[in-house]
Amino acid sequence: MTLSIGKNPAREGVKLEDEEYVKVGTEVGFDAKKIVKMWNAVARLALHARLPKDKDDHIPDYGDKDEIRVKVLEVVAELERLAKGTMTFSGIGMEVSFDCSCGTTNKRREKLLREKQHIHCINPDCKNTWMVTRDGDEFAFESVTANIDCDNCGATNLIPWRFFWEMKYDQHGTFSCHTCRHKNVVAWRLALARKNPPMDGESEN
Ligand SMILES: [Zn+2]
Ligand SMILES: [Zn+2]
Repeated sequence: MTLSIGKNPAREGVKLEDEEYVKVGTEVGFDAKKIVKMWNAVARLALHARLPKDKDDHIPDYGDKDEIRVKVLEVVAELERLAKGTMTFSGIGMEVSFDCSCGTTNKRREKLLREKQHIHCINPDCKNTWMVTRDGDEFAFESVTANIDCDNCGATNLIPWRFFWEMKYDQHGTFSCHTCRHKNVVAWRLALARKNPPMDGESEN
């Protein structure tokens, strides 16, 4: 079976089977007819108004809540079953986007974002990494930088950490200070990982 997404939103008078579809993936065990049947049932119950059959036929403003609930739960169960399949459903769902400082808009599926996860900017020329923080439904993206004071003027420069992660231990990196344009040189340094902090009066070096 092939899963496809309709090119057009559902419209009155057009059968779902007759719609034009765009292929998004393939999965064994996906029953399109079942989804269409469920969609029609939910639509009939909750989404569409109907015309009264006769003058005594009372049309409620809303569909029957319990009936709708039962149908919706059935749909949720089916979608959850499908989501467990081999096909990744990353193409379906809420999307979160943010603008990197390089100007590139990054988009991610909300479901795939984890707290404290690091996201690299999609621009291949950009070294920015962003850390995900979540507060309820709100996502925030914080740049992951090393804060280095300029050797010449002391201004703090925020350098993307990825710039250093990609640097070999025997390599030198340089960056120009955003304030005075001084060319600063950086290198990885081996340090003793001490078990205890240095004693009073003992030099750090
Ligand atoms: Zn970027
Ligand atoms: Zn400077």
